[in-house]
Amino acid sequence: MKINVGNGTIEVVQGDITKESVDAIVNAANSGLRGGGGVDGAIHRAGGPAIMDECRKLGGCDTGDAKITTGGKLSAKYVIHAVGPLYRDGKHGEPELLSSCYRRSLEVAAENGARTVAFPAISCGVYGYPIPEAARIAVDTVSEFLEGHDSIDTVRFVLFTNDVLEAFQNSLESSAT
Ligand code: ADP
Repeated sequence: MKINVGNGTIEVVQGDITKESVDAIVNAANSGLRGGGGVDGAIHRAGGPAIMDECRKLGGCDTGDAKITTGGKLSAKYVIHAVGPLYRDGKHGEPELLSSCYRRSLEVAAENGARTVAFPAISCGVYGYPIPEAARIAVDTVSEFLEGHDSIDTVRFVLFTNDVLEAFQNSLESSAT
């Protein structure tokens, strides 16, 4: 499913983000940019060791921020490593930090001329963010960015599991109405 926002499009699909042919895919990274499980592990496995070599030179990344490397062997030209919050109780700045890492990822994409960007559901795995809330924040933040900027054409949320897919579809539907 897709909706138009500003001059751009937001899409929600099910799939494996490492297979996406877009300018940039976003990684749900940790603040050390050291790789890990989940989507992070999948991206480093598929993209090869060049991505980790670049990550080591970046000196980590704050929660809520994002940094860019090349895509290594991926068909995506770039990987944007975004660090989402570890969810505690929602009262430790988690909503603002989650929103910030979507916004920062799009700013970094735009600075590097990436016009099509694929996101996973940041913080929705090991970091434990309640999925409906995370989906709402993701769709709202991306919509707000597309309304204010012409630098990005397409944002595609590539979701792995059915529960996350449904939550993002629901958020996109309610944004469209
Ligand atoms: P976090 O630590 O930010 O929670 P995870 O990698 O644990 O990151 O999970 C984030 C989301 O990415 C989860 O919804 C998980 O199901 C999903 N995911 C895992 N592998 C992939 C993949 N190859 N493509 C897209 N999404 C994936």
